[in-house]
Amino acid sequence: MTGVNDIMKIKFLGAARLVTGSCYLVKTDTMQFLVDCGMFQGVKEEELNLENFDFSPSSVNFVVLTHSHLDHCGLLPKLYKEGFRGKVYCSIPTRGIVEHMLLDSAKVQEIRHHEANEVLDEWSLIDDRNNGPELSVPLYDTTHVLGILDKFQAIDFDEEVNVNKFIKLKLLRVGHALGAASAYLTIKENNKSEKKLLFSGDIGNSNQRLDNRFDYVDTADFIIMESLYGNKYHEPRSEMDKKLAEIVNKTLSRGGNVIVPSFTYQRSQELLVLFKRLISSGEISNEVKIYLDSPLAIKVTNVYKRYFRYLGENIVSEFKNGERLFDSRNIEFLSDKNSSKGIRKRRGKVVIAGHGMCAGGRILFHLANNLSDRKSSIVFVGFQAPGTTGREIVEGAKQVMINEKMIKVQAEIHTLYGFSAHGDHADLMKWLQHIRSDRVNKVFLIHAEESTSLKFKKTIEHLGYNVIVPKMHEEYEL
Ligand SMILES: [Zn+2]
Repeated sequence: MTGVNDIMKIKFLGAARLVTGSCYLVKTDTMQFLVDCGMFQGVKEEELNLENFDFSPSSVNFVVLTHSHLDHCGLLPKLYKEGFRGKVYCSIPTRGIVEHMLLDSAKVQEIRHHEANEVLDEWSLIDDRNNGPELSVPLYDTTHVLGILDKFQAIDFDEEVNVNKFIKLKLLRVGHALGAASAYLTIKENNKSEKKLLFSGDIGNSNQRLDNRFDYVDTADFIIMESLYGNKYHEPRSEMDKKLAEIVNKTLSRGGNVIVPSFTYQRSQELLVLFKRLISSGEISNEVKIYLDSPLAIKVTNVYKRYFRYLGENIVSEFKNGERLFDSRNIEFLSDKNSSKGIRKRRGKVVIAGHGMCAGGRILFHLANNLSDRKSSIVFVGFQAPGTTGREIVEGAKQVMINEKMIKVQAEIHTLYGFSAHGDHADLMKWLQHIRSDRVNKVFLIHAEESTSLKFKKTIEHLGYNVIVPKMHEEYEL
């Protein structure tokens, strides 16, 4: 006889008709596990971080983490705080990056208790601080981060591990960012048929220089797939490179600065390598100074050097080792507060700083100094969540509030989304079509604004896939 619990189920606890907060609970006959436990980001969604988990953390047996962006890993310390003690499986580079991301995130939580003047004092330490609700109790603190880090078990790509006697896990390269993976799980419990689950994680932009390796499988019973740019094509990368060079040259020739709000992990490193190339090819003046103004991005950049062999094959063969990857006399890393303040008056500079959606961090200093300057340019290179200052600016706001001051937007605003770490429509189609529609039971589309997932659903239904766009907290039988 088959009881209710004998059916495998998946519950969508984040990034369902939303972009952030990736978290999926799979329940089988004998256990339950999570894939990702991410933070919700953006003004409205952020409140969701305060809600109780929709399950008992102590009853979760293990977690698979696809990669170290906070919207995938940011609530793991909260999971630990509330009783989870299982293992967290991830790739080897992800283990290297995740500790920096989570320790920084814990500081953000702690700082939200402080009064405004203390927050400013701590300014230089924090990149991804965002201006969300003040917290009466932090979501978690450093002790919870250290607790969960102790539970991590890093595994290599290409190796299939037995999580337990019923479940096998393999991590597949998926471009996107150093260490990023799709999770491919084979589940076979007593007297049940075998089921293969493929969680895409974030699917990379195939035009990236640093992170562009993909592994494919040709069968999966259920695919849980991101669809962020399901209805968009990125501009060709060569066009993007040209445009960026043009913006930098024009801005610098009129005495302005180029300010690039950038994510600390992946985008910043990709931009550094690109700037280095544009300078050495003469497309950008050799006189330019590029500043990476972000302590967290600098730490992550060092992990890129350490795990160099996981990067794109062209990069690995060109550089031989990771130490020199970001070296250039034009590039300077600013890790302490004084060096960051020291460049404020310098003209003709390019600054890469976090937070990528201008929701906090050192970028706010540079925006405050440059947004109202007609000579300067602000260049957005990635997705801007609704409700963030970045989204307001790209949508044409005439003025925005920064550090409690209204600042006029008079600088040139550019969006170069071709630099996104996420694949576009073509990349997503290519990734999906490695598994023919007759070899898949269902595709669940996640990790996008609702209208995007619904449009992408229609497109792939024409190819014969059976598609669901789940809502938050919906549960489906597998
Ligand atoms: Zn990501």
